[in-house]
Amino acid sequence: MKPLTNTELWQAALGEIELSISKANFITWFKNTAILSIKNGRVTLGVPNGFAKEWLENKYNIYILRALKNIQEDITTVSCVISSNQDRSFLSIKEPSVDAVLPPKKTIEYTEKRLHFNQETNLNPKYTFDKFIIGGSNELARAACYAVSQNVGRVYNPLFIYGGVGLGKTHLIQSVGNELLKSNPHLRIKYISSERFTSALIDSIKNRTIDDFKSEYQKIDLLIIDDIQFISGKEKTQEEFFHIFNSLYQKNKQIILTSDRPPKAIQILEERLLSRFEGGMIADISKPDLETRLAILQQKSAATNMKIDDDALEFIANNIKNNVRELEGALNRVSVSAQLTKKDLTLAYTKKILSDILSSGKRKGITHKHIFKVVSEFYEINQDDLIAKNRKKEVSRPRQITMFLMRSELQYSYPGIGDKLGGRDHTTALYAYEKISKEIETNEKLKEEIDQLRDQIYSLTG
Ligand code: ADP
Ligand code: MG
Repeated sequence: MKPLTNTELWQAALGEIELSISKANFITWFKNTAILSIKNGRVTLGVPNGFAKEWLENKYNIYILRALKNIQEDITTVSCVISSNQDRSFLSIKEPSVDAVLPPKKTIEYTEKRLHFNQETNLNPKYTFDKFIIGGSNELARAACYAVSQNVGRVYNPLFIYGGVGLGKTHLIQSVGNELLKSNPHLRIKYISSERFTSALIDSIKNRTIDDFKSEYQKIDLLIIDDIQFISGKEKTQEEFFHIFNSLYQKNKQIILTSDRPPKAIQILEERLLSRFEGGMIADISKPDLETRLAILQQKSAATNMKIDDDALEFIANNIKNNVRELEGALNRVSVSAQLTKKDLTLAYTKKILSDILSSGKRKGITHKHIFKVVSEFYEINQDDLIAKNRKKEVSRPRQITMFLMRSELQYSYPGIGDKLGGRDHTTALYAYEKISKEIETNEKLKEEIDQLRDQIYSLTG
């Protein structure tokens, strides 16, 4: 088989990385990056500035290495150098065409985004109502979003959509914006994640431009804030958001919010914000049923001109049940490997490629409770200490390992991990996961411990 070019390798790796981090982060840190060279398993990435270098090396190193290793096993390290002219700039509008980078069949989602991402509204044009498959799990949320797109500011204000990760919240709320832009291109629309909103606010405070920040928001006709749960506990952000919310609301401007949980369940949310959120329409999205999962897979494979056997699609739909992002990830994964190895997408091939994903913990009935039990017995501590606010090393270390295992074995979200461990912040979980992942690479003893813990966890359910 012909070896991959650096560009092909990086494109395939980006496809994987995109699945494991938030879209906002993906775009912020991975645009204008490229593989400059690979020597003896050492990959050198070209990145646009020192900021990106720092983040990619410290924060995303694990994701990058894992994605690259999945494609090319002999890769051992990744480092970044600052270099301005990436020849294959991701997200660059100037780039000629997707076909130049990948074989024509392989139109992976991020390539689309790279070509048309709307800088002003932040909307991604690939998220439209016509690409959203309707099923029992999402029809209410979809109907509410659609209604808002037809009567902006006049029905359901605010509109609050909640549900677990990867179930289509971002897709739906961006569809509202894209639908409105079609008929009214001058409408001032802004899509932003609450994390970005928070950091933009903090920057504006630092740079003394907060008045500009506020007035920019006052001018918006449709404000879409994604993953609002992350403003939990951030008082200043909540305060500023409250004022922006009120001023838009009074002018009948539309506000749409999403969260991974209902408003009431967002901890440390100011009462006045809670009552605002509850004053509008609240709709949830739950996990798609088999029929919907199959319809989604059919649509995605048709859209990318991918030829995949029906029984292979059914196999994926039957086995990947938790969310649509995983479903897409599985489909992407088989299609990318089939193309790299020039194999047909049959049932047998699909089973083989997906075997490692399918044997992961969640599908074997393992829960976080199994992990709590095994870790606390292994380190001879009390299970309650994992959750308690105790910072002693004897318990903080096992706690970090618990967080790591919840992520690696059960693919828990960081906020989800924080929740289960006594309401800790998601950044604590993220930090723990990254710390342990990094340490395993150099600390043999820890690696062995983790292997033993994994064995014990899996032996619980047999
Ligand atoms: P969330 O914001 O809830 O975490 P996303 O909106 O990012 O989820 O959805 C994850 C992926 O799944 C996206 O690529 C989205 O297009 C796709 N998706 C989710 N639900 C549907 C659906 N009903 N029909 C088609 N694609 C969907
Ligand atoms: Mg989302």
